[in-house]
Amino acid sequence: TKENIALFTIFGGTGDLAKRKLYPSLFRLFRKGNLKKHFAIIGTARRDWTDEYYREIVKETLVDLDPTEKELAEFCGHFYYQAHNVTDTEHYDTLKTLADKLDEDYQLQGNRIFYLAMAPQFFGTITSHLASQEIVTETGFNRLIIEKPFGNDFYSAEKLNKEIREAFNEEQIYRIDHYLGKEMVQNISAIRFGNTIFEALWNKNYIDNVQITFAESIGVEERGGYYEKSGALKDMIQNHVLQVVSLLAMDEPSVFSQEAILAEKVKALNAIRIYTEEEARQNFVRGQYREGQLDSQKFISYKEEHNVHEDSQIETFVAGKFHIDNFRWEGVPFYVRTGKRLTEKGTRISIVFKPVPVNVFREQDQKAPDAETIQSNVLTIYIQPTEGFSLSLNGKEVGQGFNLHPVKLDFRHSSETMGNSPEAYEKLILDCLNGDGTNFTHWDEVAQSWRIVDVIRRAWDKDSDPIPTYPSATMGPKCAFDLLKNDGFDWIWKP
Ligand code: NAD
Repeated sequence: TKENIALFTIFGGTGDLAKRKLYPSLFRLFRKGNLKKHFAIIGTARRDWTDEYYREIVKETLVDLDPTEKELAEFCGHFYYQAHNVTDTEHYDTLKTLADKLDEDYQLQGNRIFYLAMAPQFFGTITSHLASQEIVTETGFNRLIIEKPFGNDFYSAEKLNKEIREAFNEEQIYRIDHYLGKEMVQNISAIRFGNTIFEALWNKNYIDNVQITFAESIGVEERGGYYEKSGALKDMIQNHVLQVVSLLAMDEPSVFSQEAILAEKVKALNAIRIYTEEEARQNFVRGQYREGQLDSQKFISYKEEHNVHEDSQIETFVAGKFHIDNFRWEGVPFYVRTGKRLTEKGTRISIVFKPVPVNVFREQDQKAPDAETIQSNVLTIYIQPTEGFSLSLNGKEVGQGFNLHPVKLDFRHSSETMGNSPEAYEKLILDCLNGDGTNFTHWDEVAQSWRIVDVIRRAWDKDSDPIPTYPSATMGPKCAFDLLKNDGFDWIWKP
């Protein structure tokens, strides 16, 4: 294993993300030898903590990983705390002194990763200070990791991007979309470009429609305040869902490199039709969960959740249809849906192939006499909670006559394999250490995704009808099912 050399500065070091994801991920990298001796971590936040106290907090976040005392002592010894208000210029000078000292103590060669695990309104202030107070180095690499949300619409995203780009260039910026760190999302490319039987059919001649579902069973939980300003469209469709659409729709890259993949993804995003407001209303629907029940469990409505307005018109569910205007996809709908308080948690992609043109068995099939068509083949990619894929095919039922019988070729990664596989944040942090931006979002992708989504938001904002609701623990409002029915399709959830 290659040892990576860097100083991490985590802004928001006392926050939820740092504790739940970043410290455990850094520890896993340490355990695997990706981080050994030449690394140090500065945690910053406003609170006044000592290094000792900070190290105790970090330790507590590692309990689930069963660390030995020796591992803990060694790993946590690399952590330093610096109280820091990000809006106070003087504090950056203290930070610089500490950073330069650690650089020397640990021989970090000026390599720096700045992780902004804080509210986005501070991103611009932090990056401009990192440059003006010369915390970015001349000698090593300087990389910036930023969390979502990246803007609130195209204009705010562009403004934010301009601020950040004054201090960091695009190659130094790593915008996190943690779905891109997931094994099966990365596997989309392997399935497509490693298998003749799929890539040869990956176009409008053989594919009827594509379906992408990001379902959550949980409600909004403690995030009501954030969610009221965001909603499912901005929280999920603008980033995760459109990233998956672009991975499915892109043309094959000539090599599997960051630049080549990015170019193809951007081309695909640029081919997604930007709707007029009228078209947006026809092609996208929304919903909000009301009370409901699953077995003996009762759920309250979104409007009753903590920090949610009693008349809230914010969507907790979105379903829609994207058109991709290029030679490969003309006429093939890409259906997407995402929501909270659905029947179960699951992220799945279904590629629905066209039925064979003629049912030559129509006279022999006693179960479906005169059936014009045969069930479509479906390739389903399971992203979470189980990971794998399945392919439904038609075979013949054993016996007299010629009854067709759908069979499923099914592959799931064992929980053991998945348990040993790196967590998304661990993969992404290692990618950043290696200077590999493939699984991060480029500005061109962010910008185009906002352009696609903004018009849908605008159309809804002008709509004076109350938002449709759906009972908790169902798969969304009726309009989401009608969207496909009107095209002669159905959502496939359990093929
Ligand atoms: P949080 O509220 O738990 O933590 C915020 C951190 O910022 C705290 O450490 C706080 O002390 C610090 N802070 C606030 N104001 C400050 C100031 N003026 N100066 C210095 N420090 C200050 O937030 P979080 O949940 O950890 O989220 C951080 C970022 O990550 C946000 O952009 C969020 O949208 C994003 N994100 C979080 C999650 C998650 O699972 N928590 C998931 C995806 C994205």
